[in-house]
Parts: sequence; structure tokens; C-alpha cells
Amino acid sequence: MEPVMVDAHLDLAHNARALGRDLTLPLDRLREVDPHPETPLVTLESLREAGVAVVFATLFVDPREGGREDWEEEVWVQLHLYEAWEAQGLVRLVRDGRGLEAHLQRFPQDRVPGLLLLLEGAHALASPEDLLPLRERGLRLLSLTWATGNAYAGGNAEEGPLTERGKALLQAMARWGVALDLSHLAEEAAWQALEVFPGPVCATHANARALVPSPRHLSDRLMEALRERGGVLGLVPFNAFLDPGWKRGDPRLPLEAFFRHKAHAEAILGPGGVGLGTDWDGGFGLEAVPQGLDRHRDLRALGDAGFLGENWIRWLRGWL
Ligand SMILES: [Zn+2]
Repeated sequence: MEPVMVDAHLDLAHNARALGRDLTLPLDRLREVDPHPETPLVTLESLREAGVAVVFATLFVDPREGGREDWEEEVWVQLHLYEAWEAQGLVRLVRDGRGLEAHLQRFPQDRVPGLLLLLEGAHALASPEDLLPLRERGLRLLSLTWATGNAYAGGNAEEGPLTERGKALLQAMARWGVALDLSHLAEEAAWQALEVFPGPVCATHANARALVPSPRHLSDRLMEALRERGGVLGLVPFNAFLDPGWKRGDPRLPLEAFFRHKAHAEAILGPGGVGLGTDWDGGFGLEAVPQGLDRHRDLRALGDAGFLGENWIRWLRGWL
């Protein structure tokens, strides 16, 4: 049996909403009709074709546009979109450990992708208590920030510490069983969060800062801390995140550029601590990913069963 795949970061609802893409189309059809300069990489059909059993699907609103009430409204619209897809039988929302096991039992027959909901950035939450209604609808993962800083913590593009409200949110997450995603968190805030938060920790989409010197990626020390917490890192096959010299419009990089990050991360986290978090169609398309990776099924060439999905499944089974 082919190993199951897990992609720990896809902005599916944001893609459907902000770019108006119909993700229920076959990928080749979407590529014909899509008006954007970036060629799309993902639809629900391409996930199904590849055998992607679990996706960490984001609720994401750009904090540079609009205000908090707009963000909150959009988060709920995106949640309702995922629920509508589930009602149509296009996806299955995975809300707890029992749901995960039931999903994995059914997946080999029906290949319906399972979605775990991830709030990317806490800026839509007026207070830590706002997490509860989302948790009740199945939210199980949260990153405190997107690029910019917010009321909870500093982000990768606007560095700063964890705030008092950030600590309260982490306590609420621990109480309600919501895992912490370290992606996009400022380094200082990440260390403070690790100290305060006793629950499960991961990084859904980041690469090695040792190879691409940007606060967007994990330092070797943070990778060590993640290993000590039993966490998993999802690597991003996006050229600008693989080689600091790559610019939009440059030719696609060879796959070796990805394997350098994989080798670096596995040397620190161990082969059981690294998987995929592609972030595909999260602001870039086919033109910006390595050669040979044209859709999810091509990702199968990147690693063994652990890397492709079992590492994430083992991590989820530890706490979900
Ligand atoms: Zn992101």
C-alpha cells in the first residue's frame, strides 16, 4: 500500500476566497481558467489524486488589510466554507483523535482528504476567550502571528516579545487542546512561548535559517528545542525559501535545493521529526517551486513514508 501523505500547511479557503479559485475543479481545468499570473498547484482533486490523507488547512486573513472585525468575519466565512465542502463529501474535517482514526480507516477506499483546522495568526481574536467558539467547531492548531506583530506576539517581519495577552492565549490553548505552530513567530517570542506553553508544539511551514538567513525560518537552536518537545517541522518547497539568491522570474531550482534543507533539518530533528508543509498557492505558484514538482503527487519523490506523512500522523496521535 502506498504511504499516506500529510501536508501540514495549505491556505485552501484563502485561495478560494481571496483569489476566487474553484478548488473543486480538476487541477488541469483550474489551470486553464485561472486568470492569475501564478499557475495554481492545488485543488481538492490534486490532493485526492496524490493520496494526501491529512491537510492542516488554514483560516487565514491578511492582517495588513482591514481591521479586527473584518478579520474575525472572514475567519468564520472560511470555516463555513470548509464545513460546506465537508457537507458535499469533498473533504472530512478531523476534529479529534477518534475522528483521525476513523478517517484513516476510510481513506484508502474513498481518498477523501482530511482537514485539520489551523488558525494562522491570532490577530482575528479580540481576546483569548474568542478561541473557544472556534475550538468547538474543530480548530486544533494555532500560530500566534502571521508576518506582522499583533496583540499576542511579535512576528517574523515585525519582531517583538510574547505579550501578557499572548501568555493568556497560550494558557487557553493548553486548556482546550490546541497545538502551537511556531511558524511566523519572532525568535524572542518563540522562546518565551515554549517556556509558557506545556502543550504540543510544531512548525507547520518553515525551512532552515542556517541556509536561508531570515527570521521567517527556524534557527538551529529552535529546531533543537522542537526536537526536545517531540515536535515536527514541515518543510516548504518554495524556491525563495530554499535559496536566498532566487528571485521571482528566475528559472525553477533543481530538487537538490530542497534536499539541502531536508538534510539539515533531519540532522537536528532526526528523520522522525521532519515532514511536509508545502504552503502551496500561499502567495506563489508553479513557477516558484523546484523542477519536477508540478502537483502533489510529485512530492512522493521527496522522501520515505515517515517524511511523507507518518511523522505527522505519529505527532497527531500523541495529543489529538
Ligand atoms: Zn504562512
